[in-house]
Amino acid sequence: MRIVFLGPPGAGKGTQSVRLAKQLGIAHLSTGEMLRAARVRRTDLGLLVADYLDNGQLVPDQMVLDIVADRTALEDCKPGCIFDGFPRTIAQAESLDRLLAERHTPLDLVIELVIDQGELLKRLMKRGRGDDNMATIQQRLQSYENQTAPLVKYYSERCLLNSVNAAGSAEDVYNAIVAAVEAVK
Ligand code: AMP
Repeated sequence: MRIVFLGPPGAGKGTQSVRLAKQLGIAHLSTGEMLRAARVRRTDLGLLVADYLDNGQLVPDQMVLDIVADRTALEDCKPGCIFDGFPRTIAQAESLDRLLAERHTPLDLVIELVIDQGELLKRLMKRGRGDDNMATIQQRLQSYENQTAPLVKYYSERCLLNSVNAAGSAEDVYNAIVAAVEAVK
């Protein structure tokens, strides 16, 4: 299975998608984690993306598309994978569709985690990751609204979208996600 997790920063994409990937026995791919790892290793890509990460801005599409194309070609993605935090723009979504079509492995499901801004801010301020300060958080929420939220319509039109209320307990949210997965199996 190939599943995309969509939702603003702080909605719980990481926690929920890691758990689901384990349960389904498929790979968990977080572009945010890959970019942060490249940065820590000070690779060419890492140096190029550092400022974007610090400012809470989206990294240029082509850089993310390159790492996703490489990563999805690895053996552990054969049984399927979860895309956590990718795609984040319409251009990325279109490229992902093309890539998966070439490989005859289309998306099965897009799970949107829905939550209001007030709850997000509370969660993000508690999390304490390097890029979790007020200015960056606001920029990331803005990037989500402007560049990523249009994907809700994009995937809804392709009949792939399943929206889950992410305001409940982690357990309740997970159960709703599992129900959405069962429905497309
Ligand atoms: P995340 O861990 O998913 O919250 O991502 C952290 C940061 O990595 C984001 O604020 C962006 O700067 C960058 N990033 C992660 N995924 C993408 C993506 N698909 N497209 C562009 N930038 C991304």
